[in-house]
Amino acid sequence: MLGKQAWRLLSNPNSLINRIYQAKYYPKGNFLNASLGHNPSYTWKILWSTQHLLKNGIRWRLGNGNTIPVWGEPWIKYNDNYHCIHPHVPSNSQAFKVSDLISNDKNGWNDVLINSLFDKDTNNQILNIHILSPHCEDRRIWKWNPSGSYTVRSTYKGYLQHCLSMGNLNVLGPWKNIWNLCIPHKIKHFIWRLMQDILPTRPNLQKKGICYPSTCFRCNIDIENTWHTFFSCPSAKLCWQGSNLHSCILNLINSSNGVFNLISHILQYWTPQAAAEFSMIL
Ligand SMILES: [Zn+2]
Repeated sequence: MLGKQAWRLLSNPNSLINRIYQAKYYPKGNFLNASLGHNPSYTWKILWSTQHLLKNGIRWRLGNGNTIPVWGEPWIKYNDNYHCIHPHVPSNSQAFKVSDLISNDKNGWNDVLINSLFDKDTNNQILNIHILSPHCEDRRIWKWNPSGSYTVRSTYKGYLQHCLSMGNLNVLGPWKNIWNLCIPHKIKHFIWRLMQDILPTRPNLQKKGICYPSTCFRCNIDIENTWHTFFSCPSAKLCWQGSNLHSCILNLINSSNGVFNLISHILQYWTPQAAAEFSMIL
């Protein structure tokens, strides 16, 4: 949803809100090349945090080419990447626009110039781009939606694919064992978040700038991380002692090295019924 607000800044440059942000944070550029700046407002900080997302999801739809620099802008398609990746960027690259690659009669590409500037693959990609009327403006579109407009749904799917292709989400773990358990979906999701250590424990809230004491609110002895909360806090141990799983789980608590290892062991070596019962108790 935040990405959508940032997308509006880019797609409606004359809007009042964009003009206000532009005056303060990017007087000579746009949202995509703005820096966070000194003493930024809370709203700007949050909007700015989506800059990386927008840089990945935006590409140009070529009109007359007058506003698109040849280098550094996403207008040539290479698989999922639209950036021109030619290594020899001239010093005046920002002044060199895509319209300079179009023939004088504006009906086609300047083959000779393109041949002299780019490798064969890039050359072919450019020659395959259809040139619109000289009166048609260049436009930024959202590459993850066939219609070109930003939607939360297309962004979620597109960015997920992007992260997977970059290897950012390939955290190894017995994830399939969680999804195969016969327990409510919200419990499966909870176990997944617990193993990723992204539950709102006090230390995690502190990382997000929320001021809390970091000690456990129940025993006030130790740091309230996930291991303490669910396994080593005296009140958690009392819970496990009262369950059917007490002998197995207390042995594991004494021998395991952290939440991830303990739950991984249970998901891989316990029966699905016992793992489901363990999950429901959590
Ligand atoms: Zn405690």
